[in-house]
Amino acid sequence: MTKHQLGQYFNIDGILFNLKYLFSLNSIKPDLYFKSIVKINLNELKNQHSIKYVVFDKDNTLTLPHQNIFGNEKIKDKIEDFKNVFGQNNLAILSNSAGSKDDLNFKEAKEIELKTGLQVIKHKYKKPKVYNEIIDTFGIKNDIKNSEICIIGDRLLIDIIMGKEYGFFTILVDPITTSKDNFMVRMMRKVEKFLIKNKKMI
Ligand SMILES: [Mg+2]
Repeated sequence: MTKHQLGQYFNIDGILFNLKYLFSLNSIKPDLYFKSIVKINLNELKNQHSIKYVVFDKDNTLTLPHQNIFGNEKIKDKIEDFKNVFGQNNLAILSNSAGSKDDLNFKEAKEIELKTGLQVIKHKYKKPKVYNEIIDTFGIKNDIKNSEICIIGDRLLIDIIMGKEYGFFTILVDPITTSKDNFMVRMMRKVEKFLIKNKKMI
């Protein structure tokens, strides 16, 4: 296994970050949960929850893992709805592969942007150390309430926990598929499922 592959496998920053929340699990309850992004009520999100910006996790939220096109037609259509409601420039994809320093010359990021019409956040470190990059991507100056940024993802201990750390609004969705999960991800999902069930998170 190369160093690069190892980095994909173990996200040390992410693991340390999780430990911090071990004793305050109630604080990582997602604000909303849906089976898929397709089910999200966008007007409610905008008007009731005052969301102005939306950050999407990529793998298993929008696309199949390691693919650069939408997972299905319904997701594709839903993203068009998101663009109409929030404006294309107020949406972005945050991936721990595409747009990261592992993505040479941002080749993958560029391809995803072309295929989805969504900007991909360029970042040096992996989630959760990406706050400044999110703010910069949206061109937000000083007058932002973090609660006006919504993060949508399929991983409680990655996407939701990061959103909570920064005071974002958080939406957990089910993964599109778990059949391509590697061993680490399978184990992590077991932990997440346990927490969600036992802590009545959704
Ligand atoms: Mg994901």
